[in-house]
Amino acid sequence: MKFKQRMLVVVSLLIIVGFMLTASVSFYLSRQAALNSLVEHEMPLTSDNIYAEVQRDLIKPRTVSSFMGNDTFLEDWILGGERDSAAVTRYLNEIKQKYGAFTAFMVSDLTRNYYYAGGVLKQVSEKDSRDDWYFHLRQLPGDSELNLDPDLANGDELTIFINFKIRTSDGTFLGATGLGLNLASITQIFSDYRARYGNNVYLVTPTGNLLLQGRAGAEPQSLYQKVGVKSVVEQVLSQPEGRFSYVKDGKTYLLNTRHIEELDLILCVEAEEGQVDEALFPPLFITLFVSFVVTGVVLALLLKAINHYQQELESVAWQDPLTGLLNRRAFTERYERIKSGHLRSGKPLSLLMIDVDHFKTINDRGGHSLGDQVLQHIADLLDDNQRPTDCLGRWGGEEFILLLPDTGLEQAAQIAERIRAKLEEHQLVFQLCQQEVTLSIGVAEQQGLFDLDAHVLAADMALYKAKQDGRNCVRLEE
Ligand code: GH3
Ligand code: MG
Ligand code: MG
Repeated sequence: MKFKQRMLVVVSLLIIVGFMLTASVSFYLSRQAALNSLVEHEMPLTSDNIYAEVQRDLIKPRTVSSFMGNDTFLEDWILGGERDSAAVTRYLNEIKQKYGAFTAFMVSDLTRNYYYAGGVLKQVSEKDSRDDWYFHLRQLPGDSELNLDPDLANGDELTIFINFKIRTSDGTFLGATGLGLNLASITQIFSDYRARYGNNVYLVTPTGNLLLQGRAGAEPQSLYQKVGVKSVVEQVLSQPEGRFSYVKDGKTYLLNTRHIEELDLILCVEAEEGQVDEALFPPLFITLFVSFVVTGVVLALLLKAINHYQQELESVAWQDPLTGLLNRRAFTERYERIKSGHLRSGKPLSLLMIDVDHFKTINDRGGHSLGDQVLQHIADLLDDNQRPTDCLGRWGGEEFILLLPDTGLEQAAQIAERIRAKLEEHQLVFQLCQQEVTLSIGVAEQQGLFDLDAHVLAADMALYKAKQDGRNCVRLEE
C-alpha cells in the first residue's frame, strides 16, 4: 500500500475509533444516569404516588370494615338469633350508601347466611369454592383479610373484599362482615401509571397472590409463578421495602417493592431496564451519523491537502522554476519513456537544441531580470508551438530542448525554422530588449538505436554549426 493510502486508512481508523469510543462512553454514561434516575426517582415516585392513592381508596373502607367487625349491633343481632333480617339489611344498606361502597355484607357462622343490602343472598358452604374466602378467614389467626373475588351480588364483577371477623368479647367467632369495593377506580389509577411511566404496577398479598395486574387472565396468579421472579420472591414477601432485579426472556427487569402495612399488601413497581435505551438510541445514531460525516469531510480535506503538497513536491522535482518547463532530469526521464515506444514502432525521433543568441548581452544591458523575462517569453513561445505529443524542456541556462516523436529530420527542420521565425517576429520581446533576439537551432534525428547522450551531442554539433554560420539559423546534423 502506498504511503498516501496508508495514511488515509490510519487517519480514518483513528477518527472512527475515537468517535466510536466517545459515543460508546457517552452512551454508557447516559444509560447509567437514565437507569439511576429510573431506579432512584421514577420507580420510587410511582410507588409513592400509588401508595398515596391506594391509601386514600382502600384505607377508609378498611377502617369502616373494622368498625363493622367490632360493632355490637351485629354481635347482638347474631347472638339474638338473627330474627329480624330487615334490621341487618337496613344496616348494611346504610353503610353501603354512606361510604359509597360497592357492596356491604355479613355472614353468620351459625346459620351460614350471607346477608347483603338486598337481603339474604345465599348460604355459604364449604363445598362451594366461591366461599373459600370465608373458611379461609375463619381459620386465620388474624382478624381480617383482603380478597379479590367476583361479587355474586353484583353480576360477578371483580371486587376487592375487605373481610373482618365478628367476634364476641371473649373471642368466639360469630361470622364475617365487611365491604366490597369496585375495582374500577383503583384499576384506573394503576393503568394510568402504567401508561404514564411504562412501568408495570400490581399488588401482592402476603401469600404471594397477585392483585390488580395489568392483564387479568393472561398473567400468572401468584408471584411464585412469575418467570424470573422466583429467585427473589421470598425476599419480596418478607422485606418492608426492596429493590430487586431479575431476568426474563433475556431481558433484565427492575422490581421495586413496598409493604403497605395498613392493608398488608405489597405494592410492586416493575420496569424493563431496556426501556431507557429507547430514548438513548436516537442521540447515539445522530452522534454516529455526524461522526461519519465529519470523518468523510476530514478525509476529503486531508486527501486534498496531501494531493496539493504532493503536486507541489513533484513540481519542485520535475519543473524548472523560472519557465515552468520540464527540467533536465524530467526531460531525460520522458525521453526514456518515449524512446521505448519508438523502439517498438521503429519510427524516427528528432531533437531540437535551441539556444538564444548573444544572450549574455541582453543580461549585460538590461540586467538579469530582463534576461529572465526574455527566457520566460521564449519558453511560452516554444510551449505554444509544440504539438501535444512533443516534449519540451529547459536544458540549462538559455538552452531549450524539444523532442519531436514520430518526426523525421526534414519535418523537424521545418518545425525548427518556424520556431526561429516566430521569435524573430516577436514584437514584445523586441520592445522589451530594444534589440532583436534570435535563436540558433541544431536538429538531429535518430532511428532504431536511441541514446539521449548521442542524440544531444549530434544536435549540439548542428547547433555549433548554426552559431558558426552566423547565428539566427537552423542547421541539421551531418
Ligand atoms: P551565444 O550566442 O554564443 O550563445 O552567446 P551567449 O551570450 O548566448 O552565450 P554564453 O554561453 O556566453 O552566455 C549565456 C549567458 O546566459 C551566461 C549566463 O549568465 C546567462 N544565463 C544562464 N542562465 C540564466 C538565467 O537563468 N537567467 C539569466 N538572466 N541569465 C542566465
Ligand atoms: Mg548557450
Ligand atoms: Mg546563447
